[in-house]
Amino acid sequence: MRQPLIAGNWKMNGTKASAEALISGVIDGVAALSKVEVAVCPPFPYLYLGEQLFTESSVRLGAQNLCTEEAGAYTGEVAASMLADFGCTYVICGHSERREYYGEAEEIIAKKLQVCASRGMTPILCVGETLEQREQGMTRTVIADQIDGIISRVGIDAFERLEIAYEPVWAIGTGVTATPDQAQEVHEFIRQRIGELSGAIAEKIRILYGGSMKPANARDLLAQADIDGGLVGGASLVAGDFVAICQAGEAVAG
Ligand code: PEP
Repeated sequence: MRQPLIAGNWKMNGTKASAEALISGVIDGVAALSKVEVAVCPPFPYLYLGEQLFTESSVRLGAQNLCTEEAGAYTGEVAASMLADFGCTYVICGHSERREYYGEAEEIIAKKLQVCASRGMTPILCVGETLEQREQGMTRTVIADQIDGIISRVGIDAFERLEIAYEPVWAIGTGVTATPDQAQEVHEFIRQRIGELSGAIAEKIRILYGGSMKPANARDLLAQADIDGGLVGGASLVAGDFVAICQAGEAVAG
């Protein structure tokens, strides 16, 4: 049984005060949970706050992005070593918003995975199809291309230490959630695809669902055989909602 992971992606939201309140709310809310793993990915400026406040808690810290390069003249970028320095465990890589607004494709995403892993952090690799692609019946092709494009660059062994998030683009921030059956079908497909190269990695790897996960739908999604957690955007900005999703993860954990 894979331990469920619920990771909150705050995106570019919050203030110092709201970040502090949200982090404290999450710490208090999940303190009694022991079976689900919980992570929070705040914007870069609040990582320090997270590092300080999570010290006594089991909640892990994550970042939303990182630079492909190790250090040097890359104005505005943040290096993997810096994130590791602030105690990050996870880094989201290949989020659809990075793919769409910043032109990140497999080449860059693969480099980010490598630099992330080289600093001992675990990438959360996001994949997902657009509504148009789904309507054209291309979901499996798109997902397979995204996964294969990474494997061909970093090798299957890199998936030993990596989480995948299936995030249908049409469900992100839209309030429309994939049904448990729709999500399970793609998760199963991803696991099979990886299984063609390594049965052991396919069995072990966690595949999170992301896309308007909320307290009301979390339990049904998380109960699916191949859904091992959630990457939560909007609902992670409200402590009570995020904690309720974590509780759903705890409830389905073996
Ligand atoms: C995300 O951006 O990773 C996400 C899943 O967002 P939301 O939950 O708001 O759809």
